[in-house]
Amino acid sequence: MSSVSPIQIPSRLPLLLTHEGVLLPGSTMRTSVDSARNLQLVRSRLLKGTSLQSTILGVTPNTEVIHLHFRCSLLFDEFLGKGKPFEVSFCPAYRAFVTLLFCVFFRIGTAALAVQVVGSNWPKPHYTLLITGLCRFQIIQVVKEKPYPVAEVEQLDRLEEFPNTCKTREELGELSEQFYKYAVQLVEMLDMSVPAVAKLRRLLDSLPREALPDILTSIIRTSNKEKLQILDAVSLEERFKMTIPLLVRQIEGLKLLQKTRKHKQDDDKRVIAIRPMRRITHVPGALADEDEDEDNDDIVMLEKKIRTSSMPEQAHKVCVKEIKRLKKMPQSMPEYALTRNYLELMVELPWNKSTTDRLDIRAARVLLDNDHYAMEKLKKRVLEYLAVRQLKNNLKGPILCFVGPPGVGKTSVGRSVAKTLGREFHRIALGGVCDQSDIRGHRRTYVGSMPGRIINGLKTVGVNNPVFLLDEVDKLGKSLQGDPAAALLEVLDPEQNHNFTDHYLNVAFDLSQVLFIATANTTASIPPALLDRMEIIQVPGYTQEEKIEIAHRHLIPKQLEQHGLTPQQIQIPQVTTLDIITRYTREAGVRSLDRKLGAICRAVAVKVAEGQHREAKLDRPDVAEGEGCKEHLLEDGKSDPVSDTTDLALPPEMPILIDFHALKDILGPPMYEMEVSERLSQPGVAIGLAWTPLGGEIMFVEASRMDGEGQLTLTGQLGNVMKESAHLAISWLRSNAKKYHLTNASGSFDLLENTDIHLHFPAGAVTKDGPSAGVTIATCLASLFSGRLVRSDVAMTGEITLRGLVLPVGGIKDKALAAHRAGLKRVIIPQRNEKDLEEIPANVRQDLSFITASCLDEVLNAAFDGGFTVKARPGLLNSKL
Ligand code: ADP
Repeated sequence: MSSVSPIQIPSRLPLLLTHEGVLLPGSTMRTSVDSARNLQLVRSRLLKGTSLQSTILGVTPNTEVIHLHFRCSLLFDEFLGKGKPFEVSFCPAYRAFVTLLFCVFFRIGTAALAVQVVGSNWPKPHYTLLITGLCRFQIIQVVKEKPYPVAEVEQLDRLEEFPNTCKTREELGELSEQFYKYAVQLVEMLDMSVPAVAKLRRLLDSLPREALPDILTSIIRTSNKEKLQILDAVSLEERFKMTIPLLVRQIEGLKLLQKTRKHKQDDDKRVIAIRPMRRITHVPGALADEDEDEDNDDIVMLEKKIRTSSMPEQAHKVCVKEIKRLKKMPQSMPEYALTRNYLELMVELPWNKSTTDRLDIRAARVLLDNDHYAMEKLKKRVLEYLAVRQLKNNLKGPILCFVGPPGVGKTSVGRSVAKTLGREFHRIALGGVCDQSDIRGHRRTYVGSMPGRIINGLKTVGVNNPVFLLDEVDKLGKSLQGDPAAALLEVLDPEQNHNFTDHYLNVAFDLSQVLFIATANTTASIPPALLDRMEIIQVPGYTQEEKIEIAHRHLIPKQLEQHGLTPQQIQIPQVTTLDIITRYTREAGVRSLDRKLGAICRAVAVKVAEGQHREAKLDRPDVAEGEGCKEHLLEDGKSDPVSDTTDLALPPEMPILIDFHALKDILGPPMYEMEVSERLSQPGVAIGLAWTPLGGEIMFVEASRMDGEGQLTLTGQLGNVMKESAHLAISWLRSNAKKYHLTNASGSFDLLENTDIHLHFPAGAVTKDGPSAGVTIATCLASLFSGRLVRSDVAMTGEITLRGLVLPVGGIKDKALAAHRAGLKRVIIPQRNEKDLEEIPANVRQDLSFITASCLDEVLNAAFDGGFTVKARPGLLNSKL
């Protein structure tokens, strides 16, 4: 195909307006057609047409659509004067001005042959045309606008119009010769092994020189604007002149590229060409192998990094081997990405990079005290640990494991330890991990394999001596994929962990500098082998007073900061905090409390922001009330809402006080209005104290009896030990029925005669087990059979024996705190737990009266008003039942 067209084009051509790209004679282009006019053109001219003539279109680049307000006269002066516009529409609504929408067609277009038409309905109806440029034409006049424009045209680029005479050829000769040389030079810089390049080289010799500027312009890298200029250059001389600089630019670009490539290769002599056969997919993309180059560059970089990395000998060897393999691999192989990721991880790992420890015990004490209120025992133990480390200067020793309910600051203390040592901190959540590859990584045998959490953590922190917090070691699972606890053992064992081998890395990494701290809610579910390597530090729950202090010293300031509030804007008095603690949360730690405080801050933030906006509105003198005001605010909102409110100096406001009403408004009605007295308003209910991994809790025990055959029903998800306690309690009461005048409904001392008993432990969905409910069950049943109410302010704990002895139990401190939280006054504990009372904070001890009991008689005496011995009047009792 040549731009010197042997074809005679029709004098009238339908105009195809293209938005994308510029078609030059001799080149081929794909264009998408979706405007109504163009669609119509394609349908009626191309899809229906049969003759060749009807498939010739006038392709005109639609350079711009201009919306202008012009005065009529101006319009005609401006445009009719130039004589080129052909689409003008008036809008009569304007008197002095008219709105004009007119398309400025490029006055020169390219007559083109539609080679292929492909239609599609997705995402909207459109055709894709493959068009080949034949020659230039000039629009003389638009003869028809609808349904698609048709113009009377004059063909340019006619063969006979080109200077054929020797003289003119000579004149042009120099230019065309020059142009030809550049064209050859350019093509020779490309890879001749690529068929498209070879074809172009052949075309250069066979095509008339006049056709070359158009063809090369459409091949080399040029902007649309430059192509338009070439299209507009009707004179051949002009066209040659304009195209030469474009060729030179491309040649220079290629030279530069080759130079930098060569420079890089010189720079690294060891690099061999990774893919000597460069694939060039299309000619204009002389730069198309950029991507590959980038990849090559990356590999060079990677190799350099491996060389300069301080990884140990063994790891280095593996890397060198892998990179050699990588270089030989085609990129398309899945293993290519796998190997590359592996090598990238290897060079990123902090083999030898560490932070310098700064350990000053005094500073550490201050920091721990500043960050955490109370928790003296924990802080003391942590300081001891750090002091020993300072003196011994190594990390060998047991791993610290903080055990306690959620939200008591275990993670937070771990973070503080990292801070005092000046080390990086990283938390590894182990809850639910049941696959050992989570810890030790997957073998690098399949796509998607990755390193375990330890190596990932090291990559994240970028140093080899961080503090790793192994969170929730008690929640490690087990599955067919191996036991993650066993993998953890290797990580934590100081004798083994300098040689920790992650399956993915497959080379040893020294973990001996990492400081591990573990946390758990309970030691019961920590695998024994793991437990053996840890030093357990119990972190009990907080008292109400401690919670109030923590809230005011730490949580509230933190929440205010997070919500952009200041103490001048919000005030939360201590009584409110107490209300939140007692009525809206029931927990050993402070996590829910923190969340509730967050909710309050959010609500206040809205109020403050609303207030500021109102202020901003009122402060604007130029904004009137009403509609105008609305409009203005809308504009403001769009332009700069932030500066709008912050720039204005607001008058100091009263802080928003959070009282109980505000609390109710924000958090809703209280969740835990203590209904202890309500629930104890009938016989057969007693309060026990339970210990759960979430801290101490009060637990109601309910009993009822009905006609039956002596069955005992137990509900509330009880474990076996608890069921046994229930049987023990019943047996003891049956054997002591006479002593206490306990009778069934028909007055018999055989309590189970014609009677069924049902014991229930709310909340029914929580699994409960343990022996410590023994005394509570016995008291509850004693109440049921005696018809007397248990004191509403008493809670108890203790294991019982068949003979009615009370045995010691654990978790006294947490249980006492729970009783205190619930507002109870008297706590019955086993005699042998008396020593545990020392652990209980003084203020709690003051508020509660502790009664120690060694046998059930003493328990019952303390649990009922006026004692439980035979003082009870049987007659009265029976009438009540
Ligand atoms: P855990 O790890 O025990 O579940 P976190 O360490 O995540 O609990 O603590 C929850 C939140 O309570 C954190 O914001 C923490 O700072 C705060 N917190 C807990 N105990 C204290 C305390 N004694 N002093 C100050 N803030 C505390």
